[in-house]
Amino acid sequence: MSGTLQRLAILGSTGSVGASTLDVVARHPERFQVVGLTSYQRIDLLVDQCQRFRPRVAVVPDEGKATVLRAELAARRVATEVRVGPGALSELAAADDVDSVMAAIVGAAGLPPCMAAARAGKRLLLANKEALVVGGALFMRAVRDGGATLLPIDSEHSAIFQCLPEDRSAWASRIDHIVLTASGGPFRQRDPDSLHDVTPEQAVAHPNWVMGRKISVDSATMMNKALEVIEARWLFDLQPERIRVVLHPQSIIHSMVVCRDGSVLAQLGTPDMKVPIAYGLSFPERIESGAQRLDFLQLQSLSFEPVDMRRFPGLQLAWDTLRGAAGSTAVLNAANEVAVAAFLAGTIGFTAIHRVNATTLDRLEPHLSPDHSLDDLLALDERARAAARQVMQELKGT
Ligand code: NAD
Ligand code: MG
Repeated sequence: MSGTLQRLAILGSTGSVGASTLDVVARHPERFQVVGLTSYQRIDLLVDQCQRFRPRVAVVPDEGKATVLRAELAARRVATEVRVGPGALSELAAADDVDSVMAAIVGAAGLPPCMAAARAGKRLLLANKEALVVGGALFMRAVRDGGATLLPIDSEHSAIFQCLPEDRSAWASRIDHIVLTASGGPFRQRDPDSLHDVTPEQAVAHPNWVMGRKISVDSATMMNKALEVIEARWLFDLQPERIRVVLHPQSIIHSMVVCRDGSVLAQLGTPDMKVPIAYGLSFPERIESGAQRLDFLQLQSLSFEPVDMRRFPGLQLAWDTLRGAAGSTAVLNAANEVAVAAFLAGTIGFTAIHRVNATTLDRLEPHLSPDHSLDDLLALDERARAAARQVMQELKGT
């Protein structure tokens, strides 16, 4: 893509990944043009982003926010058109004047615009792991049929991708298994019996990464790693037993490929999302990301530990759902989104998140047909959310 301007839509531009994307983009005005930005809550930040990057269109969830945004943009003489709702997100993701879509919405809400980008054959930079966890085979088929290029942004998957040859047909013969690294989050060393009374503020205080609140809670339960195992299954077409997880508290090695001959390839760097974001933006080239460089002489040591499954019971659900009925990963994701939102709102305790996830999975049979549609998946997502809310009600009564 060198020499040509890459026209970019950033879905979820006001979030942690979205803002880091704009940070990288701003370093390369000759390479990138921002065509669309979107936000669900932070209209103040979206106004600033529109003023700075002058996108053609900005998308917000409702008319109330659109009215506020239009007034602010008019006051600042910014000509960005304001559009409303999920349909406008998918339209932007598939628009003719968009080459690349950064999918940085959090949760299953990002699936429809991701599917639209995939079907329209875009370069799709995927941070929104929940979209792939829910979409699974349907998502990957849309990527293939639409001729899209799927580029992983999650740091572990970017690491694996960077360790593999550009020619995807060589992947299967090369990989014995992959090892996803996990920091263990804020509770790696905390007594598991004391986890029930941790607060949202303690749970979102990640030792190495600064991220949105939902993924920070997922890191504390290690559900984030469970979602990443499922994500890796689809991105690299690997059977579940070929995906392993190891604790690596320093977050310097971002993940590893163990090759058939026993050779291990790893990608290292400081824990900064700007590196995988810059790689997705510039692939197959490399551009300045703005991330701090790794100083080997400052590194004390790189250590590894097994995951304590008693402390992090949610991790096992990744392999269980991948081996279970089609749609099980979508049920797990929906239950987890509901449970994490309730935990952040102070309605349930930290250890109840896993109980809600496991009980919802036990109760709900997904019943997805092999040729299911996006609508079937969205209906299943709704059913699983309702089931998870019911489970939470019952838990409160106990
Ligand atoms: P965040 O909460 O900081 O930002 C989320 C963005 O999505 C915001 O712009 C928000 O306005 C928008 N949004 C939220 N709900 C929405 C909805 N229902 N409809 C439309 N837009 C909505 O989250 P984040 O930390 O930037 O994470 C974004 C995605 O990237 C997640 O899927 C996360 O798992 C993944 N990810 C994040 C990091 C990280 O370092 N933050 C690393 C790897 C992967
Ligand atoms: Mg990750």
